[in-house]
Amino acid sequence: MTKNYHNEAAEEMEMFAEKECNKCELTKPLNKFYKRSPIHPNDYEIYRRPVCKACTRKVNHDYANQPEVVAARKQRLIDMRDELEDYRLGVVVSNLPTHKICRSCEIDQPLTNYALAATADYHRHVCMKCTTAQRNRYHKTPKGIKALARRRARSRQQYEERD
Ligand SMILES: [Zn+2]
Ligand SMILES: [Zn+2]
Repeated sequence: MTKNYHNEAAEEMEMFAEKECNKCELTKPLNKFYKRSPIHPNDYEIYRRPVCKACTRKVNHDYANQPEVVAARKQRLIDMRDELEDYRLGVVVSNLPTHKICRSCEIDQPLTNYALAATADYHRHVCMKCTTAQRNRYHKTPKGIKALARRRARSRQQYEERD
């Protein structure tokens, strides 16, 4: 038997089938459960995970919001910024590449064509020329026009409020 488990009979069974979630213990239609790879072609139930989509999402969300996970995420960001600061000050002696390919124009360019950023190689993935082009394009869109106006209003306010 091939992997062709999605025969009509199985599909029809899926349409009317329900399944109990191992976590919330509610009985829900099969489409409320994420699929998983087939093990036995005749048993449609095992193509679904034992825990419903809602419970899966909740588990993932709860995990990401655990204090230690949030703290680790924040610390990682601080570490990267610290490293970047070291690099800026010339403290880090690293074997960075001299060139890399821009993710936008796909041209191999010297690292100095990229703005500094908290990334693995301390530079943005997109070259400065492409960044400027992207920004100019964005500032012509309705959303970009509004954002630009907001920023100008803010800096004008700061200018007027200065000592
Ligand atoms: Zn559930
Ligand atoms: Zn580029």
